[in-house]
Parts: sequence; C-alpha cells; structure tokens
Amino acid sequence: AGQLRFDDVTFAYPNGYVALEDLSFTAEPGQKVAFVGRSGAGKSTVFNLIPRLYDPTSGRILLDGHDLRELTLASLRDQIAVVSQESVLLTGTVAENIGFGRRTATREEIEAAARDAAADRFIRALPLGYDTPVVPSAGQFSGGERQRLSIARAMLRDAPVLLLDEPTSALDAESESLIRGALDKLAHGRTTLVIAHRLATILDSDLIIVMDRGRIVEKGTHAELLERS
Ligand code: ADP
Ligand code: ADP
Repeated sequence: AGQLRFDDVTFAYPNGYVALEDLSFTAEPGQKVAFVGRSGAGKSTVFNLIPRLYDPTSGRILLDGHDLRELTLASLRDQIAVVSQESVLLTGTVAENIGFGRRTATREEIEAAARDAAADRFIRALPLGYDTPVVPSAGQFSGGERQRLSIARAMLRDAPVLLLDEPTSALDAESESLIRGALDKLAHGRTTLVIAHRLATILDSDLIIVMDRGRIVEKGTHAELLERS
C-alpha cells in the first residue's frame, strides 16, 4: 500500500492562475520522493492536492490505483499524514493535539503508541507537558514546537503516505538532530513526499523531482540527474 501516482495533472487556482501543468510521476510504496525548485514553482500546490484541499482541474491522482475522488474523506485522512509547521492546532491539551487523527485514542493509548514507535525520546523532548492547554490563536508555540507536535501526531498514525514540508527554520543543534532522527524514523516504511530544503535530504531520496513554473523539468534518481547534467 502507499503507491501515489499523478497522471497528467493540471491545476488552476480559483482565480484562474495555472499553478501546475501536465504533472506525471509515481511514488512507489515506501519510496522517498524529493521535490525541489525555487519558490513559486508549485511544490506546495502538489502537496495541497493530495489531501484534497483542491482537486485537479484535469488529470487524476491515484492512491493504490484508486482516484482520490473515489475515496471517502475518512479513508483519505487515514492514509495521509501531513507534517508541516503550519499544522493545524486544536483547542484541547497537547496530548489531545498529538492524538488527533486517532479519534479513539486515550492518553494512555497515546503514550503507549509513542513508546511502541520508539519515539519516546522525541516525545519526551517536546517542550510542553502533555496536559498543557492549547490556545490555537495565542501564538503559544514557536515554529519548531509546532513542527514537533506535528511530527508526534504523525508518529502515532499508520498512514502509508507521509507529506513532509521539511523544516527550514533555524533550530539549535540538539533540536535539529532530534527532529532529523524523528523524521527519518517517520519516513521509514512510508511513501514519503518531501519538499526538500537540505542537500542531504535530496541525496537520500529515491526520486528527485525538479519543478519550475508549474512543470516538472527534471525527474530521476540522483545518479540519473548527474548523468544528464
Ligand atoms: P512553491 O511551494 O513551490 O513555493 P506554490 O505551490 O506555493 O509554490 O505556488 C505556485 C504558484 O501558485 C505561485 O505562483 C503562487 O503564487 C500561486 N498560488 C499559490 N496559492 C495560490 C492561491 N491560493 N491562489 C492563486 N495562486 C496561488
Ligand atoms: P494529520 O495530517 O496528521 O492528520 P493535521 O491536523 O495536520 O494532522 O491534518 C489534518 C488533515 O488536514 C490532514 O490529513 C490534511 O488533509 C489536512 N492538512 C493539515 N495540514 C495541512 C497542510 N499543511 N497542507 C495540506 N493539508 C493539510
């Protein structure tokens, strides 16, 4: 499970701006696919189409051979985890925010799952206690802290597909290595699409997709891209 395929996808935003043109690629189960390209190239738009914030204007997106439009939203949610600094915060406690997406999870289940995921070092390193009340609008969390919450949330789910907007914010060395370790663990065994900002992440990917002005201009393994350049 976890094959994700774009089949001639074109997408125009509601204002008519064509942000993606004729995109085709396949992320095979368990592969890591890096998206690179300058700002405005369309990387975030690709990511917005996968959880169906928008649907393609033409073309299809297939998850394990099924058009995303044929899946229920509940099934889509179960299959796709998003890690991003803009991850939605909800009113409740830190624990409830981490458990979000596992609707039935109790605090005990969350902590047990965190241990199972061998993520306890990471979870323990969250800067806030489990019981801290979250006020979504209060600017209570830094970008790095939101990223950590978002990673912890994704760790507790078995979604076969992971969308990762690699953190760009400068972090201290310890947080940086903690987050790197957590992200590597998270990507393991999942089909991972990453908006890559670090060279190490790009080199570590099975497929590199270079975008420019809404199109794929290069696609291949690191070795293939080197050969062609
Ligand atoms: P990237 O993630 O590569 O920086 P984006 O996918 O965010 O690129 O943006 C691709 C293009 O789509 C940009 O030109 C951007 O201005 C435009 N765009 C993004 N969001 C919207 C929107 N909601 N409405 C209209 N145009 C948008
Ligand atoms: P999770 O992705 O782990 O379920 P979120 O609360 O971050 O947790 O996301 C809930 C749903 O909202 C996601 O499955 C996805 O459909 C959508 N979503 C959240 N954040 C983003 C984002 N930054 N970009 C695109 N979709 C998002």
